[in-house]
Amino acid sequence: MTRPLTVTVTGAAGQIGYALLFRIASGQMFGHDTPVRLRLLEIPQAVRAAEGTAMELEDCAFPLLADVEVTDDVDVAFEDANVAMLVGARPRGAGMERADLLQANGGIFGPQGAAIAANAASDARVVVVGNPANTNALIAASHAEGVPAERFTALTRLDHNRAVAQLANETDATVGSVSGITIWGNHSATQYPDLSHATVGDRPARELVEESWVRDEFIPRVAKRGAEIIEVRGASSAASAANAAIDHVRDWVLGTPGDAWTSAAVVSDGSYGVPEGLISSFPVTSNGGDWKIVPDLDIDAFSRERIDASVAELVAERDAVRELGLL
Ligand code: NDP
Repeated sequence: MTRPLTVTVTGAAGQIGYALLFRIASGQMFGHDTPVRLRLLEIPQAVRAAEGTAMELEDCAFPLLADVEVTDDVDVAFEDANVAMLVGARPRGAGMERADLLQANGGIFGPQGAAIAANAASDARVVVVGNPANTNALIAASHAEGVPAERFTALTRLDHNRAVAQLANETDATVGSVSGITIWGNHSATQYPDLSHATVGDRPARELVEESWVRDEFIPRVAKRGAEIIEVRGASSAASAANAAIDHVRDWVLGTPGDAWTSAAVVSDGSYGVPEGLISSFPVTSNGGDWKIVPDLDIDAFSRERIDASVAELVAERDAVRELGLL
């Protein structure tokens, strides 16, 4: 057994939180020899529901679960956190303007960034799930004085996993034979799911699918899959989002397998023309500690246009939160 890792989950009483916590506690994120301490953050009116979840966690008698604490205090929640999964966010209410949504989330993610800087472990790694995830991560990072911006990321792994599954489906292949997919840009409908470097088995994906399928079905389907799930299931995706968050943290902490890359929204170093400092999705690998943007991929004119469109949305979100004084 190794030493326990402390994982903070915000919005712990929500749908994604409920799908996430039991898997972390059972060892599916860090492996079966790493104990975990869970700290669950909720807003005061949801603390009781989170306590109910904590009772269920206790009733599972997970051998790896060292401790569970429920709180509405950000400083307590992030104490010694090695991993922070920021799931809770303010959803867009009826008639709410974008500026109101950004302002409400700034009020959540700014203080959380500051609390991470003040209380978390020196190796703390943060993944933001709550939307607008990229910009919430940017806000949190900008309030976390002394914590390298590289430690703040946003989740695009669900989009990545959806893209892998769609390509596997279309080519009658297994998901394990698909590699080289990238999600670029914002976790929103402008994201660009890119299969121009993808392979299925040992063949380039582009040889196996029609160009019209890529443009008219694959890209919009992946980008709008969340809405499709809501329409069919009658509720937002929760288990698949939780699964993707676990994939993201596991690959970040333990490393991506072989020479395969995945997708994550990480702070831009200016690669691929994405302005430095934005938190944008890229093809990434991890050596077990740090994400590294995959360098030197050829970007054709179609991809360029799609990446630029999504990045323009990120720039607009950044400028809006800057104007609101949230950065
Ligand atoms: P969910 O658990 O379903 O979703 C949580 C967040 O994840 C939302 O912002 C949601 O965005 C986002 N998300 C990102 N990707 C996906 C995806 N692919 N599919 C679905 N959601 C995605 O929300 P609930 O309302 O069930 O729970 C939220 C909880 O957070 C509540 O218990 C609330 O009390 C809590 N909360 C806690 C805070 C805190 O700890 N300080 C602050 C604010 C809220 P979208 O809305 O766009 O679907």
